[in-house]
Amino acid sequence: MDARVDDALEKSGDASKNSGMPNQRPSRAEAENAVRTLIAWAGDDPSRAGLIDTPARVVRAYEEFFAGYGCDPQEELDRTFEEVAGYNDMVLLRDIDLESHCEHHMVAIIGKAHVAYMPTGRVVGISKIARVVDIFAKRLQTQETMTAQIGNTMQAALKPHGVAVLIEAKHHCMTTRGAHKPDVDTITSHFTGVFRDDPRIEQRFLSMIRGAY
Ligand SMILES: [Zn+2]
Repeated sequence: MDARVDDALEKSGDASKNSGMPNQRPSRAEAENAVRTLIAWAGDDPSRAGLIDTPARVVRAYEEFFAGYGCDPQEELDRTFEEVAGYNDMVLLRDIDLESHCEHHMVAIIGKAHVAYMPTGRVVGISKIARVVDIFAKRLQTQETMTAQIGNTMQAALKPHGVAVLIEAKHHCMTTRGAHKPDVDTITSHFTGVFRDDPRIEQRFLSMIRGAY
């Protein structure tokens, strides 16, 4: 492939990055065939008894792993509630389980997300925040991208005084291959508004996610 074609593909890939389904989605049969090819590439026989149903299972697993395509995270945050007796302090969801897949190796990223916001008189159902995390996690991701996407979506939809997102995760592409460093946690954070501008509020968030409050 020449460099220009490569470049153009890269750009079109960027434009559609994480935005939903690709233009031409292959059929289920094509996807299963691709799994057969990978099994053969690994050195096994895709037609042996133990592997015969594997392509169908892998494709069903992919439907779960990547269920976030075609879901609109903004929509989850559409309904807000004003009746909160004047509550105006931080709302924090700590230890949201995070299961994602890295876009470089398509293997698991497993960790926790902590998401907080400082409401402006209106709050959103807390399960919706966990749902936003899931929608972005169930796509091919980098941890950095996902952290920013969660923060920016919350900020745009709720227009709060600020949002804090912190993700700590293990990347299986670093534990079971490549660098083989199973104990490394990758930590990323994204702060907007008061979490970014007021060190006391940032500090409160960081202590609260550690369980010290
Ligand atoms: Zn990776």
